[in-house]
Amino acid sequence: MHILLLGGTTEASEMARRLAQAGLNATFSYAGRTRSPLPQPLPRRIGGFGGVAGLERYLKDHSVTHVIDATHPFAAGMSRNAHAAAVATGRPLIRLERPAWAAGPADDWQTVPTVEDLPGALPDAPCRVFLAIGKQQIGLFAARPQHHYLLRLVDPPDAPLPLPHTTVVVARGPFTLTGDTTLLREHRITHVLCKNAGGAGARAKLDAARGLKLPVIMADRPVLPGDNVAHDVDQVMDWLGQDTDRGV
Ligand code: NAP
Repeated sequence: MHILLLGGTTEASEMARRLAQAGLNATFSYAGRTRSPLPQPLPRRIGGFGGVAGLERYLKDHSVTHVIDATHPFAAGMSRNAHAAAVATGRPLIRLERPAWAAGPADDWQTVPTVEDLPGALPDAPCRVFLAIGKQQIGLFAARPQHHYLLRLVDPPDAPLPLPHTTVVVARGPFTLTGDTTLLREHRITHVLCKNAGGAGARAKLDAARGLKLPVIMADRPVLPGDNVAHDVDQVMDWLGQDTDRGV
């Protein structure tokens, strides 16, 4: 057995611990987006595979028997490639996907279909926006330069930001309700913008927004291929166990 674990999330790190504890032969794959990726208790590889064809080659060359896609729910390119390569090479794949967040009665949430729809959902009058969408799609907000944006990034930006009014906070989750309430207060935030990432590590901003009665504008998740989905690491371990029992 050789498991390829596609990572970059809290759940992937938890999965890596469980695979290592069970003594299973697995490789952890990072995209290489952050400067100092967290250490993992598994052998690591870092960087893209080179599209579907590159991943197919990797699966064959490294005799991968199982693929666990534990990438972020918004890492749709990797998930689509992984599904295509797994189908093409006949490797079983499971997606480890945290449940999406759902609004409660005290929440003031507006949802939009995609991240690209977020800028247009902001009012025209200048606002103070906590833009909690990571760094890759910040450029979308260049079309709304009247707002002030608070960005929370894992690494300091290595190039000038495409937005005229920004404050950058460098921090890595998980975040707390107390910390995020203070952050939103100190920066006099009026709107929280985010992706429906789900999970506990980034949830605090939503609870803080609820406590401060701030509106949240949230992008829905992309639709991903494949219906073999686990919501926690136990389900993935069961899936691996079932396969092992069948001698796959
Ligand atoms: P993406 O747009 O879906 O992927 C773009 C390309 O990056 C993929 O085609 C692949 O390159 C490479 N890639 C992505 N994840 C990889 C992995 N685990 N191992 C090896 N190559 C990988 O991905 P993304 O949204 O940029 O996310 C990149 C990483 O950050 C992922 O590991 C994801 O879990 C993590 N992350 C993403 C978000 C988010 O909001 N998107 C948030 C938190 C963490 P090739 O085509 O060359 O194989």
